[in-house]
Amino acid sequence: MKTYDRLILMISSPYGHKYYNVSLFVKHIILYIITFIVAIVFFVLVVLHIFASEINDIENKYKYIQDNYQVLLDKYLSLSQQISLKKEEVLLVTDKVEDLEGIIGISDKNSNYGLQSRVEIASITGLQKLFIMKFVPNGYPLDEYKRVSSGYGYRIHPLNHTREFHTGIDLASAMDTPVYATADGVVDFAKSGWNGGYGTLVKIDHSFGFKTYYAHLNSFVVNRGDFVKKGQLIAYVGNTGVSTGAHLHYEVRFLGSHMNPKNFMEWNMGNFGQIFNKEKNVAWQSLLTTINNLMQQIPMEQRLSLLEQNSKESLR
Ligand SMILES: [Zn+2]
Repeated sequence: MKTYDRLILMISSPYGHKYYNVSLFVKHIILYIITFIVAIVFFVLVVLHIFASEINDIENKYKYIQDNYQVLLDKYLSLSQQISLKKEEVLLVTDKVEDLEGIIGISDKNSNYGLQSRVEIASITGLQKLFIMKFVPNGYPLDEYKRVSSGYGYRIHPLNHTREFHTGIDLASAMDTPVYATADGVVDFAKSGWNGGYGTLVKIDHSFGFKTYYAHLNSFVVNRGDFVKKGQLIAYVGNTGVSTGAHLHYEVRFLGSHMNPKNFMEWNMGNFGQIFNKEKNVAWQSLLTTINNLMQQIPMEQRLSLLEQNSKESLR
């Protein structure tokens, strides 16, 4: 070691002098500093590593939570959807029951129904009404007609000039006006010709003993044995048989007896109860009870889907 490399540090005090070899001292200092830096770097690395793994952990947790959140959100959405569906179902059923009570006239204090019948009517679901309107003739067999040229009941026959019972209603209308079935049923008769004065005639058998006749037709588009839906096109207005002009002679029969077709034509969802008072020749209560019993055998879910399906269908 050369002399100029050396720096002797002398510290004086009242007790004497102390000499320090600076070169050695610096060496020690540098060693300490390096050790210190290494330690710091090591420490920082360790800390960084810990942080990194913590961050990784947190990221994983975040991802897990996010995934879970998505699953829960999906569940929540599907549940809310189910709840709102159920709500709608409940509302629908409540609606229909209320509807029917008003329609059938439970709230009507002058109602002819006894207590027993009222209880039965109260248990009627909305589906029953739709059921009846599907299977028992109601509404008009024509979309448009000019006028009622002859009503149901006794009249002077326009050709014979004798007093006789008119078994149906005559709807004067343009030639070839489409004629529609007034309820679901099966075609019992579809023939052209004289047919006892009816001319070209279609007869439909409906459920519960009802029958409808469509007479003086120009042509028909159904055949005997065909099942027809309410509102289905069956024929076209004509002037065949005993007829003085294009018109539809429409009849409603129940167990072979003639009914006033007007009551049935004017019957719709909005005035559902009317017919029970207007047409006394049908044992409506018995029919309602029968239909009610039929309804009970259909599972609730099916009833609801049927109800929805029927609500959507435009009932002619
Ligand atoms: Zn007639």
